[in-house]
Amino acid sequence: MNALKQGWFSEINGLWPGIAQSLEVEKILYEGQSEYQHVLVLQTKSYGKALVLDGIIQCTEKDEFSYQEMISFLPLCSHPNPKTVLIVGGGDGGVAREVAKFPGVEKIYQVEIDNKVVEVSKQFLPFMAKGFSDPKVNLHIGDGFEFMKQHSNEFDVIITDSSDPVGPAISLFQEPYFALLKKALKPNGIVCCQAGTVWSNLDQVQDTLTHCRSIFPKVAYGVSSVPTYPTGQIGYMLGSLNPETNFNEPLKTFSEDELDKMELRYYSDKIHRASFELPRFAKKSLKL
Ligand code: SAM
Repeated sequence: MNALKQGWFSEINGLWPGIAQSLEVEKILYEGQSEYQHVLVLQTKSYGKALVLDGIIQCTEKDEFSYQEMISFLPLCSHPNPKTVLIVGGGDGGVAREVAKFPGVEKIYQVEIDNKVVEVSKQFLPFMAKGFSDPKVNLHIGDGFEFMKQHSNEFDVIITDSSDPVGPAISLFQEPYFALLKKALKPNGIVCCQAGTVWSNLDQVQDTLTHCRSIFPKVAYGVSSVPTYPTGQIGYMLGSLNPETNFNEPLKTFSEDELDKMELRYYSDKIHRASFELPRFAKKSLKL
């Protein structure tokens, strides 16, 4: 791959023109082409193991917990009593690992399109893939968009932990997908989707927000910092069927002891509230 040169991996992609983060590579642990995408696992010098799909960094050992905790706990703590959760994507297992920690969650269904991602994650990224061994998790290999068509009124929370809107994930960012999410939710259900950042993908965030607003009476957009994502930040789009949902104020909060027992390293109720506090330019552009 062009992106691997002289011991460095550079994340060159048209989604963030003119910028590319580089990680020094100690070893290529795996490289192959699955039915859906190019799959690369790297041992990096400063961020531990890294999973890269189609040239885009999905997660690294050092900072993955920020994303996995936030995309899971923002929606779960905003729902009054989440019992049945669906994860779309998430082939590394990190979101399943976090959702399984949440008190009261009884069943976790997951639909991931690419079994190769699951296999390499189990082999090289066990600190995330351990999510798959929780007995509550029921993994199905298939296309998330097709899966959603077959489900109605089943889930309290749906988390879309997809790759970026290129390749197999394109359909997961478009309006028909949000309509299917709505149908698959139980009353007062909540969705949370990976959404781009206001620094490099403001247009994409605006589009996803527009789709979400056209379907859900209550929406919010929060962010967390993840150093190895473009611009060091990632966004989360939340939608609720209940117009009374106040995403800014978590319904479920945890003591420091409880957070320690769940091994949460990023999420807390203060971080939850702060994640929705956006800079003025972003609030104005996104009309939040
Ligand atoms: N945290 C990551 C990020 O935002 O960069 C996402 C991690 S996870 C590895 C993304 C997963 O979504 C991949 O394993 C990919 O195969 C899966 N995926 C992409 N399109 C999908 C689809 N249409 N249905 C189900 N899974 C999909």
